[in-house]
Amino acid sequence: MASIAQLPIRSKGNSKCSIHKEKDVVFVCQECENLICTTCCLSENHKNHIDSLRELSEIKTEKTNTIVDFVNDTEKVNIPKLNQEIISSRTKMSTYKTHYENLRKNIIENNIQCKLELDKLTEDYISLCHTMEAATTDIIQTHITDLERRLDTLRNLLSEYKQTLQIGTAVLVYDSVSEIQEMDSTIPPTPDIDMAEFTPGKDRQSLLKQAVGNIIIPDELLRYTIPDSPTVMSEFTYPDDITSICLTSDGRAWLCDCSNDTVNLINTKGQVIQTIQHNSDIQDISL
Ligand SMILES: [Zn+2]
Ligand SMILES: [Zn+2]
Repeated sequence: MASIAQLPIRSKGNSKCSIHKEKDVVFVCQECENLICTTCCLSENHKNHIDSLRELSEIKTEKTNTIVDFVNDTEKVNIPKLNQEIISSRTKMSTYKTHYENLRKNIIENNIQCKLELDKLTEDYISLCHTMEAATTDIIQTHITDLERRLDTLRNLLSEYKQTLQIGTAVLVYDSVSEIQEMDSTIPPTPDIDMAEFTPGKDRQSLLKQAVGNIIIPDELLRYTIPDSPTVMSEFTYPDDITSICLTSDGRAWLCDCSNDTVNLINTKGQVIQTIQHNSDIQDISL
């Protein structure tokens, strides 16, 4: 069997032999799956394939049927199927779009709720502070009022007893002393009231995350990264056709056009800085 890589390629629809360019192809070598000319038949490449040769004109009907089948299948089945598939893919895409729109709405709505609840908790705490402060103030104020009442009483008694000392009867002196002995002179201590305290939550980030909720990302999407759009480093027109490009590590590029025999090295401005010529057309290049 001849290696395909050794055979020049006959372009689609070209009736000339790719090796013997002046001759028409007339046979199918079924062994090589190739069209060949009469000269080819006798050549080293195909001389053992004689049994597999068929006349080109003879297989036209058979091959035509294949094309007719393909055309029918394509028109009646494959194109409608593809169209259907495209429609259902678009539908699916819009379903996903709707899903993500709703997802975003939900997340934002949830955030608003979380903030409202946080504000409510804060408001409750602030209100508790007011209540505690009022209670404490009330207790101390009651104590002060009590002390002031005692002060008033003592001042009144003081002037009364001064008078008793000067002009009081024996009975009044006696009664006054009884009164003094019953008197409780201890001053009640200022109440020591515990104060409300506030301890900010530790690990706030993770608790808030727990409060906000979880977002679950499918593995396949986690690994999928949308490629960044390329950055254009330089742009230029090139006078010839280009069928293959090989970039060099220093930012230059080798170019070839399959219809000629040269390979050009260009710089980032598109200027040819090196040319290599080969003895036949160059189909493709690689580095
Ligand atoms: Zn030939
Ligand atoms: Zn052959």
